[in-house]
Amino acid sequence: MKILVTVKRVVDFNVKIRVKADGSGVELANVKMSMNPFDEISVEEALRLKEAGKASEVVVVSIGPAKAEETLRTALAMGADRAILVETEDQVEPLTVAKIVKGVAEAEQPGLIIVGKQAIDDDSNQTGQMLSALLGWAQGTFASKVELGDGKVNVTREVDGGLQTVELKLPAVVTTDLRLNEPRYASLPNIMKAKKKPLDKKSPADFGVDTAPRLKVLKTEEPSGRKAGIKVKSVAELVEKLKSEAGVL
Ligand code: AMP
Repeated sequence: MKILVTVKRVVDFNVKIRVKADGSGVELANVKMSMNPFDEISVEEALRLKEAGKASEVVVVSIGPAKAEETLRTALAMGADRAILVETEDQVEPLTVAKIVKGVAEAEQPGLIIVGKQAIDDDSNQTGQMLSALLGWAQGTFASKVELGDGKVNVTREVDGGLQTVELKLPAVVTTDLRLNEPRYASLPNIMKAKKKPLDKKSPADFGVDTAPRLKVLKTEEPSGRKAGIKVKSVAELVEKLKSEAGVL
Protein backbone atom coordinates (compact mmCIF):
# COMPACT_ATOMS: atom_id res chain seq x y z
CA MET A 1 0.00 0.00 0.00
CA LYS A 2 1.18 3.46 -0.91
CA ILE A 3 1.13 6.34 1.62
CA LEU A 4 0.90 9.94 0.41
CA VAL A 5 2.20 12.61 2.81
CA THR A 6 1.71 16.37 2.39
CA VAL A 7 4.57 18.66 3.42
CA LYS A 8 4.44 22.44 3.53
CA ARG A 9 7.34 24.89 3.52
CA VAL A 10 6.73 27.39 6.31
CA VAL A 11 8.65 29.99 8.34
CA ASP A 12 10.87 28.08 10.79
CA PHE A 13 9.28 27.78 14.23
CA ASN A 14 12.30 29.50 15.87
CA VAL A 15 11.99 32.67 13.80
CA LYS A 16 10.53 35.75 15.43
CA ILE A 17 7.76 36.74 13.04
CA ARG A 18 7.66 40.35 11.82
CA VAL A 19 4.56 41.87 10.30
CA LYS A 20 5.09 43.81 7.03
CA ALA A 21 4.90 47.58 7.41
CA ASP A 22 1.72 47.76 5.27
CA GLY A 23 -0.01 45.02 7.34
CA SER A 24 -0.56 42.87 4.25
CA GLY A 25 1.13 39.82 5.79
CA VAL A 26 4.33 38.69 7.47
CA GLU A 27 7.84 39.37 6.29
CA LEU A 28 9.20 36.40 4.31
CA ALA A 29 12.29 37.96 2.75
CA ASN A 30 15.54 36.48 4.13
CA VAL A 31 13.67 34.42 6.71
CA LYS A 32 14.64 30.82 7.52
CA MET A 33 12.06 28.38 6.14
CA SER A 34 11.59 24.74 7.18
CA MET A 35 9.18 21.84 6.92
CA ASN A 36 5.98 22.41 8.92
CA PRO A 37 6.60 20.53 12.22
CA PHE A 38 3.35 18.53 11.97
CA ASP A 39 4.43 17.38 8.50
CA GLU A 40 7.71 16.06 9.92
CA ILE A 41 5.56 13.96 12.25
CA SER A 42 3.50 12.76 9.25
CA VAL A 43 6.61 11.74 7.31
CA GLU A 44 7.95 9.92 10.39
CA GLU A 45 4.69 8.01 10.83
CA ALA A 46 4.59 6.97 7.18
CA LEU A 47 8.20 5.77 7.39
CA ARG A 48 7.47 3.76 10.54
CA LEU A 49 4.50 2.10 8.82
CA LYS A 50 6.72 1.22 5.86
CA GLU A 51 9.47 -0.09 8.14
CA ALA A 52 6.87 -2.27 9.91
CA GLY A 53 6.02 -3.82 6.51
CA LYS A 54 2.57 -2.21 6.39
CA ALA A 55 3.25 0.14 3.47
CA SER A 56 5.26 -0.32 0.29
CA GLU A 57 6.01 3.26 -0.74
CA VAL A 58 6.02 6.73 0.83
CA VAL A 59 5.35 9.60 -1.60
CA VAL A 60 5.62 13.21 -0.40
CA VAL A 61 3.88 16.15 -2.04
CA SER A 62 4.25 19.90 -1.62
CA ILE A 63 2.42 22.78 -3.24
CA GLY A 64 4.42 25.98 -3.35
CA PRO A 65 7.31 27.89 -4.90
CA ALA A 66 10.32 26.22 -6.56
CA LYS A 67 12.14 26.48 -3.19
CA ALA A 68 9.68 23.98 -1.71
CA GLU A 69 11.94 21.43 -3.43
CA GLU A 70 14.28 21.86 -0.41
CA THR A 71 11.48 20.82 1.92
CA LEU A 72 10.71 17.78 -0.24
CA ARG A 73 14.43 16.86 -0.28
CA THR A 74 14.38 16.94 3.54
CA ALA A 75 11.49 14.46 3.51
CA LEU A 76 13.40 12.29 1.00
CA ALA A 77 16.47 12.45 3.26
CA MET A 78 14.33 11.26 6.19
CA GLY A 79 13.47 8.22 4.04
CA ALA A 80 10.54 8.99 1.72
CA ASP A 81 10.84 7.25 -1.66
CA ARG A 82 9.62 9.84 -4.12
CA ALA A 83 8.42 13.45 -4.23
CA ILE A 84 5.97 15.57 -6.21
CA LEU A 85 6.26 19.36 -6.34
CA VAL A 86 3.21 21.23 -7.59
CA GLU A 87 4.68 24.63 -8.38
CA THR A 88 2.73 27.81 -7.71
CA GLU A 89 3.87 31.41 -7.66
CA ASP A 90 1.19 32.60 -5.23
CA GLN A 91 0.39 31.57 -1.67
CA VAL A 92 -2.23 28.83 -1.80
CA GLU A 93 -5.26 28.55 0.47
CA PRO A 94 -6.27 25.30 2.20
CA LEU A 95 -9.13 24.68 -0.26
CA THR A 96 -6.78 25.03 -3.24
CA VAL A 97 -4.27 22.70 -1.58
CA ALA A 98 -7.03 20.16 -0.87
CA LYS A 99 -8.19 20.26 -4.51
CA ILE A 100 -4.64 19.76 -5.81
CA VAL A 101 -3.90 16.92 -3.36
CA LYS A 102 -7.18 15.30 -4.42
CA GLY A 103 -5.85 15.36 -8.03
CA VAL A 104 -2.54 13.85 -6.87
CA ALA A 105 -4.43 11.15 -4.94
CA GLU A 106 -6.52 10.26 -7.98
CA ALA A 107 -3.34 9.82 -10.02
CA GLU A 108 -1.35 8.00 -7.30
CA GLN A 109 -4.14 5.94 -5.67
CA PRO A 110 -2.66 5.82 -2.13
CA GLY A 111 -4.32 3.72 0.57
CA LEU A 112 -3.66 6.40 3.17
CA ILE A 113 -2.97 10.14 3.07
CA ILE A 114 -1.24 11.67 6.09
CA VAL A 115 -1.65 15.44 6.52
CA GLY A 116 -0.43 17.67 9.35
CA LYS A 117 -3.11 18.89 11.75
CA GLN A 118 -2.22 22.49 10.91
CA ALA A 119 0.39 24.60 9.20
CA ILE A 120 2.15 26.83 11.74
CA ASP A 121 2.07 29.82 9.37
CA ASP A 122 -1.68 30.16 8.77
CA ASP A 123 -2.96 27.91 11.62
CA SER A 124 -5.96 27.06 9.42
CA ASN A 125 -6.43 23.41 10.43
CA GLN A 126 -8.59 22.89 7.33
CA THR A 127 -6.69 21.08 4.59
CA GLY A 128 -7.04 17.47 5.82
CA GLN A 129 -10.74 17.86 6.56
CA MET A 130 -11.44 19.49 3.18
CA LEU A 131 -9.40 16.84 1.38
CA SER A 132 -11.34 14.01 2.99
CA ALA A 133 -14.64 15.67 2.07
CA LEU A 134 -13.58 16.25 -1.55
CA LEU A 135 -12.42 12.64 -1.92
CA GLY A 136 -15.38 11.22 0.00
CA TRP A 137 -12.93 9.29 2.23
CA ALA A 138 -13.09 8.79 5.99
CA GLN A 139 -11.01 11.08 8.19
CA GLY A 140 -9.25 10.60 11.53
CA THR A 141 -8.04 14.00 12.73
CA PHE A 142 -5.52 14.93 15.49
CA ALA A 143 -4.00 11.43 15.62
CA SER A 144 -1.82 10.44 18.57
CA LYS A 145 -1.77 6.75 17.51
CA VAL A 146 -2.25 5.10 14.10
CA GLU A 147 -2.69 1.34 13.75
CA LEU A 148 -2.98 0.01 10.21
CA GLY A 149 -4.94 -3.20 9.81
CA ASP A 150 -6.36 -5.11 6.88
CA GLY A 151 -8.42 -2.63 4.85
CA LYS A 152 -8.85 -0.41 7.93
CA VAL A 153 -6.97 1.95 10.19
CA ASN A 154 -7.57 2.65 13.87
CA VAL A 155 -6.84 6.24 14.81
CA THR A 156 -6.60 7.44 18.41
CA ARG A 157 -7.60 11.09 18.39
CA GLU A 158 -6.70 13.84 20.84
CA VAL A 159 -10.01 15.41 21.80
CA ASP A 160 -10.90 17.90 24.54
CA GLY A 161 -12.03 15.28 27.04
CA GLY A 162 -9.12 12.89 26.46
CA LEU A 163 -8.61 10.29 23.74
CA GLN A 164 -11.09 8.85 21.26
CA THR A 165 -10.34 5.85 19.03
CA VAL A 166 -12.10 5.54 15.67
CA GLU A 167 -11.93 2.79 13.06
CA LEU A 168 -11.78 4.02 9.46
CA LYS A 169 -12.19 2.05 6.27
CA LEU A 170 -9.27 2.56 3.84
CA PRO A 171 -8.56 4.62 1.85
CA ALA A 172 -8.61 7.34 4.47
CA VAL A 173 -7.13 10.69 5.49
CA VAL A 174 -5.34 11.01 8.85
CA THR A 175 -4.13 14.30 10.34
CA THR A 176 -1.26 14.19 12.81
CA ASP A 177 -1.00 15.70 16.28
CA LEU A 178 2.13 16.49 18.32
CA ARG A 179 2.25 13.39 20.49
CA LEU A 180 2.11 10.85 17.61
CA ASN A 181 5.88 10.38 17.42
CA GLU A 182 9.25 12.11 17.52
CA PRO A 183 10.54 12.68 13.99
CA ARG A 184 14.01 11.44 13.07
CA TYR A 185 16.82 13.67 11.83
CA ALA A 186 18.18 13.02 8.37
CA SER A 187 21.76 11.71 8.44
CA LEU A 188 24.41 13.25 6.19
CA PRO A 189 24.66 10.15 3.90
CA ASN A 190 20.86 10.17 3.54
CA ILE A 191 20.90 13.90 2.70
CA MET A 192 23.37 13.09 -0.10
CA LYS A 193 21.28 10.13 -1.31
CA ALA A 194 18.11 12.24 -1.30
CA LYS A 195 19.56 14.48 -4.01
CA LYS A 196 19.22 11.57 -6.45
CA LYS A 197 15.73 10.42 -5.45
CA PRO A 198 12.94 11.08 -7.99
CA LEU A 199 11.14 14.42 -7.77
CA ASP A 200 8.34 15.12 -10.27
CA LYS A 201 7.31 18.67 -11.08
CA LYS A 202 3.68 19.48 -11.85
CA SER A 203 1.46 22.55 -12.06
CA PRO A 204 -2.01 23.19 -10.59
CA ALA A 205 -3.33 23.21 -14.19
CA ASP A 206 -2.25 19.54 -14.52
CA PHE A 207 -4.99 18.81 -11.98
CA GLY A 208 -7.44 21.35 -13.43
CA VAL A 209 -7.21 23.55 -10.33
CA ASP A 210 -7.51 27.33 -10.44
CA THR A 211 -5.35 28.88 -7.68
CA ALA A 212 -7.07 32.29 -7.58
CA PRO A 213 -7.62 33.18 -3.90
CA ARG A 214 -11.15 33.09 -2.44
CA LEU A 215 -10.06 34.77 0.78
CA LYS A 216 -8.91 38.36 1.20
CA VAL A 217 -6.57 39.33 4.06
CA LEU A 218 -7.90 42.57 5.51
CA LYS A 219 -5.08 43.21 7.95
CA THR A 220 -2.29 41.54 9.89
CA GLU A 221 -1.29 42.79 13.33
CA GLU A 222 1.39 41.88 15.86
CA PRO A 223 0.04 40.60 19.19
CA SER A 224 0.18 43.33 21.86
CA GLY A 225 3.22 43.01 24.12
CA ARG A 226 2.91 41.69 27.68
CA LYS A 227 3.03 44.19 30.53
CA ALA A 228 5.94 43.82 32.94
CA GLY A 229 5.17 41.85 36.11
CA ILE A 230 5.85 42.85 39.72
CA LYS A 231 7.50 41.06 42.67
CA VAL A 232 5.62 40.74 45.94
CA LYS A 233 7.25 40.34 49.36
CA SER A 234 4.83 37.91 50.96
CA VAL A 235 1.92 35.56 50.32
CA ALA A 236 -0.35 37.99 52.18
CA GLU A 237 0.62 40.79 49.81
CA LEU A 238 0.03 38.46 46.82
CA VAL A 239 -3.45 37.54 48.07
CA GLU A 240 -4.24 41.18 48.73
CA LYS A 241 -3.18 42.21 45.20
CA LEU A 242 -5.10 39.31 43.62
CA LYS A 243 -8.18 40.57 45.50
CA SER A 244 -7.90 44.31 45.12
CA GLU A 245 -5.97 44.81 41.84
CA ALA A 246 -6.50 41.71 39.70
CA GLY A 247 -10.02 41.09 41.01
CA VAL A 248 -9.60 37.32 40.60
CA LEU A 249 -10.27 36.30 44.22
P1 AMP B 1 -3.62 24.08 7.23
O1 AMP B 1 -4.98 23.53 6.91
O2 AMP B 1 -3.21 25.20 6.30
O3 AMP B 1 -3.44 24.44 8.69
O4 AMP B 1 -2.57 22.93 6.91
C1 AMP B 1 -2.73 21.61 7.41
C2 AMP B 1 -1.80 20.67 6.69
O5 AMP B 1 -2.13 20.65 5.30
C3 AMP B 1 -0.31 20.98 6.74
O6 AMP B 1 0.29 20.44 7.92
C4 AMP B 1 0.19 20.25 5.49
O7 AMP B 1 0.33 18.86 5.74
C5 AMP B 1 -0.97 20.41 4.52
N1 AMP B 1 -0.72 21.57 3.66
C6 AMP B 1 -1.23 22.82 3.77
N2 AMP B 1 -0.74 23.63 2.80
C7 AMP B 1 0.13 22.86 2.06
C8 AMP B 1 0.95 23.10 0.93
N3 AMP B 1 1.02 24.30 0.34
N4 AMP B 1 1.70 22.05 0.45
C9 AMP B 1 1.64 20.84 1.03
N5 AMP B 1 0.88 20.57 2.10
C10 AMP B 1 0.13 21.55 2.61
